[in-house]
Amino acid sequence: MTQRIRDFLRNRREDGPCVVVDLEVVRDNYSKFARALPDTRVFYAVKANPAPEVLKALADLGSCFDTASVVEIQLALDAGATPERISFGNTIKKERDIARALELGVRLFAVDCEVEVEKIVRAAGETGVAASDVKVFCRILCDGAGAEWPLSRKFGCAPEMAVDVLEHACRHGLEAYGVSFHVGSQQRNTEAWDQALGSASAIFRECMSRGIHLSMVNLGGGFPTKYLKSIPQVEAYGESIFRALSKHFGNRIPETIIEPGRGMVGNAGIIEAEVVLVSKKSNDEDEVRWVYLDIGKFGGLAETMDESIRYPIRSERDNDRKVPCVLAGPTCDSADVLYEKEPYPLPISLEIGDKVLIEGTGAYTTTYSAVAFNGFPPLKSYVI
Ligand SMILES: *Cc1c(COP(=O)(O)O)cnc(C)c1O
Repeated sequence: MTQRIRDFLRNRREDGPCVVVDLEVVRDNYSKFARALPDTRVFYAVKANPAPEVLKALADLGSCFDTASVVEIQLALDAGATPERISFGNTIKKERDIARALELGVRLFAVDCEVEVEKIVRAAGETGVAASDVKVFCRILCDGAGAEWPLSRKFGCAPEMAVDVLEHACRHGLEAYGVSFHVGSQQRNTEAWDQALGSASAIFRECMSRGIHLSMVNLGGGFPTKYLKSIPQVEAYGESIFRALSKHFGNRIPETIIEPGRGMVGNAGIIEAEVVLVSKKSNDEDEVRWVYLDIGKFGGLAETMDESIRYPIRSERDNDRKVPCVLAGPTCDSADVLYEKEPYPLPISLEIGDKVLIEGTGAYTTTYSAVAFNGFPPLKSYVI
């Protein structure tokens, strides 16, 4: 926790759980990415934390933005990004949203099938944008092995099909710009990019043989945040990615972009929450303790789903003996249990009213918090 967050929390008027994000940490993360991957453009994945202050700080540093909706595009523009610095990276878009993005000046789009290409072609026609000014990249499937929050098969197509999709784009006059993939979020294996880069280079070669010259590889996100387990440094990712690029593309390394979300903002945020109840389910001495907080799955901690992400949780009683506890949120939904399969060690002295700090919560918390489930307000966010 940074001194700035500590000071802020000491002085805040208490009004339920909140996340506090330190912009200095975000700026530092941006510089680390820029240094570790010097020839790569950074497209911050807006969904990780779309707070206007975060977007503005990144826009001021020169970041580009990966967006998934018209609202996210508008947020990036409002933060000062010009449309050339914005990509519409969602492979699932309504045609009228594509048209709106084109009207706003966005020219870079993700696709993973031919019908999505056709939507873009029609939207360009409707809005009077020359198809040749519109760049598309095709997302390929990636198995997400090694990631703690894998992204499944929802996005991307088989590499062999990507060639056809890109050829389709080219035939319709769009610029077939390149290939993208995502190795899975919270990817702790620095080598995870190698296989996908192998597929990408095969697509480049096959397109070349069909007379289509691709120029860009979008390396996606996946860069981790430190939770309980240790993680490699950003430099290690940079080196491994550069090795894989050289291995698969030789001395014809393409233009590259990265789309860090979690790795850009995760460690910049801390949630302060309160213990509402500590109880047991029977009078048995060995019965496990249940600790209920005023935040849970619906208040911003959705990534505890399947107990995937294990956040570090601190309190002022951390020097006392710890016992395994089931940790749960405050709502009347039985899914609102954070850690039960693998109980969480918490101080035996923890009491009702104690404050706890949940670390590494700058990413994917405010955006996942429900509007008013059971009357609990959405997670409050302070950016300092
Ligand atoms: C969510 C997302 C990201 C960010 O992923 P992280 O693992 O948080 O870095 C990047 N690119 C795309 C297309 C995404 O959907």
